[in-house]
Amino acid sequence: MKPEAPRALQASASPPDALGRVLADLRISVIDRCNFRCPYCMPDETYPAGHAFLRARERLDFDEIERLARVFVSLGVRKLRLTGGEPLLRRDLPVLVARLAAIEGVEDLALTTNGALLPRYVVPLRDAGLQRLTLSMDSVDAEVFRRMSGGRGELAQIEAAIAAAEAAGFARLKINCVVMRGVNDDGLLDLVARFRGTGHVLRFIEYMDVGTVNGWRGDRVVPGAELARRIGAHWPLEPLPRDAAATARRWRFRDGAGEVGFINSVTEPFCGGCTRARLSADGKLYTCLFARAGHDLRALLRAGESDAALRATVAGIWSHRGDRYSERRAELRAAGVLEHVEMFAIGG
Ligand code: SAM
Ligand code: SF4
Ligand code: SF4
Repeated sequence: MKPEAPRALQASASPPDALGRVLADLRISVIDRCNFRCPYCMPDETYPAGHAFLRARERLDFDEIERLARVFVSLGVRKLRLTGGEPLLRRDLPVLVARLAAIEGVEDLALTTNGALLPRYVVPLRDAGLQRLTLSMDSVDAEVFRRMSGGRGELAQIEAAIAAAEAAGFARLKINCVVMRGVNDDGLLDLVARFRGTGHVLRFIEYMDVGTVNGWRGDRVVPGAELARRIGAHWPLEPLPRDAAATARRWRFRDGAGEVGFINSVTEPFCGGCTRARLSADGKLYTCLFARAGHDLRALLRAGESDAALRATVAGIWSHRGDRYSERRAELRAAGVLEHVEMFAIGG
């Protein structure tokens, strides 16, 4: 049974948004820089060495992140996920993790990383109170892996990251794979074979039209249903029940070798259950992954606003939220609404 949230926190939760969705999750991007250049996120042509990322003083510092996290938790958030850019590039990240883990009311504290730096940090992160880890891995073929990281990542690094996470006691990792037709989709069964029977959960993510620079084309999206058919033909699958706020469709291998998930955000949007807010590294609140603009909370923090004023602002923004981009994708794209904030800026 889930522990009940403290009464004071329950009583003051944010009103639901305009479509009746509660505020339950916060993704915090701690940095916009990355040591990879995945073509679907931060293509090398657009972000060469020397690109002007945020400067340290433009990013929220740990006091500011913790303070905002407390505000969100007081409004009903129970899950925090740290992301980026590459979150392990943020100096002293375990210090931040410890501060967030100490917030009363946080039930789940997770991190998404490309894994390149994980062996160095996984033990301090665990000791600081990190509960769950998601690693990104797009192929088990060394050459394809390299290409999908923009020539910056090596398969051996992600394998070392998985081994280090296992040794640190993370027995059930989530492994995210973005699928692009003609780029990595032919290696999908090898990836499934790598994780069957390991206790880790591989999740295939449909290639999304996040940001403006990844040259998204609909014909590069491989529908999750097609992937499930291809995998099921090899290793029979049966569906697992889905809870309303979950993004992934989950299937279990009939032979007991674990499960596999599909995040079909293009072909089967799940906006109806979307309870997530996102905080960018420079302190903007985004109410949708595809938002065109954020709300500047850093300005309020640095102007000396009280916690009560921050709470009122965030609750007001959330209560007006009507985002459901993925459900309206075709209509909005046809109308020329193509400008969204970049994924590495607000986190996945
Ligand atoms: N750098 C970390 C990583 O790659 O795990 C964390 C940030 S990254 C933006 C978070 C997740 O977003 C990754 O799993 C990545 O594969 C996914 N992602 C990035 N761009 C995407 C796109 N265009 N479509 C689908 N998923 C994407
Ligand atoms: Fe970096 Fe993650 Fe984006 Fe790849 S997906 S470029 S690792 S932020
Ligand atoms: Fe949530 Fe926006 Fe994604 Fe819909 S498109 S699920 S509202 S983040």
